[in-house]
Amino acid sequence: MLLPFYHIVSDENPVHIKNLYQSRSIQKFKDDLDFLLEHYQSISLQELIALNKEGKTIDKNCFHLTFDDGLSEFHTIIAPILKQKKVHATVFLNTDFIDNKNLFYRFKASILYDRLKEEVILSIPYSNVKELDVLAVKNGIDFDDYLSTKKPYLSSSQIKELINDGFTFGAHSLDHPLYKGLTEEQQLTQTKESVEIISSQFNLDYKVFSFPFTDNGVTKKVFNEIDQCADLTFGSAGLKEDDAPNHFQRIPMEIDKSGKEIIKAEYLYYLMKEKAGKHKIVRR
Ligand SMILES: [Zn+2]
Repeated sequence: MLLPFYHIVSDENPVHIKNLYQSRSIQKFKDDLDFLLEHYQSISLQELIALNKEGKTIDKNCFHLTFDDGLSEFHTIIAPILKQKKVHATVFLNTDFIDNKNLFYRFKASILYDRLKEEVILSIPYSNVKELDVLAVKNGIDFDDYLSTKKPYLSSSQIKELINDGFTFGAHSLDHPLYKGLTEEQQLTQTKESVEIISSQFNLDYKVFSFPFTDNGVTKKVFNEIDQCADLTFGSAGLKEDDAPNHFQRIPMEIDKSGKEIIKAEYLYYLMKEKAGKHKIVRR
């Protein structure tokens, strides 16, 4: 079972992203899909949930694509390609950002860095997000204006349209904090509230969640509680098994290599880790 994950596919690198990571080009993305479709079969999120519930191992090679952060390029660029190639996908949304209501603090940092070119801006943490807002005001940068003109995020109506097209949606926390820096109570609030909002706002009969940044350091106790409110959760540690029974690790695809090279490297790395007994994440 392969679970590749992306944020954005575009031949342009928008200002809010370009100082953080590289967009996957449209050609590279199409090549990834052709490689995957040649060797694996695309399955839906519902099939993945059912497989996990039944505890079955599957005899065919499958994949399910996922996209984090709910960016508008999923509607304009990615979905048309996926529809043409008949590939299933799930998009994970930050509930505070749907409809361009607010901007991820890392995107704020990328926009500010683009103007001010000061490295320190890119290391301002979630807990100091106000510093980014103060810097913006000082330098005449208006994040609300950026949100309303560039519309980096999907709107509710685009999401509804995509659901009608067969795409599936999950939560990615309220406002994308690093979970390691939160208390367990805050982690649970960010998770439970965002999962509830997504499933009720869009009338979904499944509940899924992907951790913002990394699930590193999230305890067994927190996973047990999250299991009460979500069918499946996802991390981004690459090809790895996980102690948490309803939690899947995914492969980051935004590296400057072909999909074939990325997946091959993940397999080799997995085999090495398996030899060393380090292929499974143990939750405490
Ligand atoms: Zn994210």
